[in-house]
Amino acid sequence: MVDSPQSPGTPDAAPHDVVIVGGGLAGGLIALALHRHAPDCRFVVIEAGRTLGGHHRWSWFETDIPERERALMAGFALNGWDEGYDITFPAYGRTLPTSYRSLASAEFHRALVAELPAERVMLETKAASLDADGVTLSDGTRVAAKRVIDCRPFKSSKALAGGWQVFLGQHFKCAKPHGLTRPVIMDASVDQVAPHGNGEAYRFVYVLPLSEDEVFIEDTYYADQPKMDADILKGRVAEYAHRNGWQGEVIDQEAGILPVISGGDFAAATAEVAIPGVALAGARGGFSHPLTSYTLPFAVDNALAIARLIARRPQLTGAELAAFCARRAKRHWRATAYYRMLSRMLFEAAEPGKRVVVFEHFYALKGNLVERFYAGRSTWPDRLRILTGKPPVAIPRAIRALFSSGKPLNMETPA
Ligand SMILES: Cc1cc2nc3c(=O)[nH]c(=O)nc-3n(C[C@H](O)[C@H](O)[C@H](O)COP(=O)(O)OP(=O)(O)OC[C@H]3O[C@@H](n4cnc5c(N)ncnc54)[C@H](O)[C@@H]3O)c2cc1C
Repeated sequence: MVDSPQSPGTPDAAPHDVVIVGGGLAGGLIALALHRHAPDCRFVVIEAGRTLGGHHRWSWFETDIPERERALMAGFALNGWDEGYDITFPAYGRTLPTSYRSLASAEFHRALVAELPAERVMLETKAASLDADGVTLSDGTRVAAKRVIDCRPFKSSKALAGGWQVFLGQHFKCAKPHGLTRPVIMDASVDQVAPHGNGEAYRFVYVLPLSEDEVFIEDTYYADQPKMDADILKGRVAEYAHRNGWQGEVIDQEAGILPVISGGDFAAATAEVAIPGVALAGARGGFSHPLTSYTLPFAVDNALAIARLIARRPQLTGAELAAFCARRAKRHWRATAYYRMLSRMLFEAAEPGKRVVVFEHFYALKGNLVERFYAGRSTWPDRLRILTGKPPVAIPRAIRALFSSGKPLNMETPA
């Protein structure tokens, strides 16, 4: 197959082999994987925003991504820490050995537009509707395609149950070196009361030393409601920086409200977003960790699986690709049932102000068990181990939570 002679950013009359709608984390990685592993595939990624990846920072443990898949991320200029990470709870603190990685969305955009041919990326282009044969843009232009992959953002569904992770992070340029050498993945020694209007919650501060004098500080809550008071969170970040003697200027900021899924009817939730013959990927397709809301390792795995399938079977139809992604999503949902059960323990068995104890119990376990947990690859002995020992929640409440279908996800999420 030969590239079509279209001008950069202009839709082609001849169908593309693949149109990816949404150039966020999942869509951007699928584009990169197709470019590298299916070089004959004429694809285009359509992104509504001015940049690929939006505006945030994605982090992950090195072991979240299997070694054979890490090359996909190797071209990005990542922040990395190989001396482990710290956690702090009211009862103890600990350093765990796993390496940690972080990628800013500005770097994601920079590296992708440098590597992908210009005609493969359409920025500031909004899809109005998707179907099995292509995409109609908001200006009415038709982009015909043999296969369409929907990577638009996650859409909440009443068919799902759970709670919320609410967070705001600021990137500080300090006046002098901050002295921190390892990330602090959870400092839960902080006050556990959520900002006014959101009751109590599990609260922790997350800190990344991005360079000798740059530090990223994020205040996070596992809360029942998807509410954020940004000013209060900023105040708490400033207070944390002050308490640690880090003075400086805020040079960037991110904020988010992510679902923590504890149960529900996945088929019903998917039916609300699925379009016949269109493949679903990313958070919208259900590829996230139910308890941490992280998607990066699953996005890498999916991108490579999709690209390799298309390289192997150039005649693959859009419907077959959609079925392939749907099967993977179903498998992912089944494989993550245990984490949804833990989410129910967190949101239903533990009193909001005592949720910290659930994490305190968990982080006292072995480092490699914690690694497998974050990667979504807990073994059966791990699962038993997490649930044994002195129970961090009252047993009758735990039993009720085990059999509960979870609290419906309140849908009034900010866009
Ligand atoms: C602030 C923040 C920090 C996070 N940190 C982490 C982290 O550290 N690690 C981790 O694993 N996960 C993290 N997550 C969770 C998750 O990984 C991210 O939300 C991730 O970006 C989801 O990827 P996605 O591609 O599914 O969706 P998105 O990245 O949201 O991408 C969807 C894209 O679709 C575009 N779009 C929407 N509508 C249209 C349209 N009609 N036409 C064209 N384009 C459209 C959007 O502009 C967007 O770029 C974070 C989330 C947030 C919000």
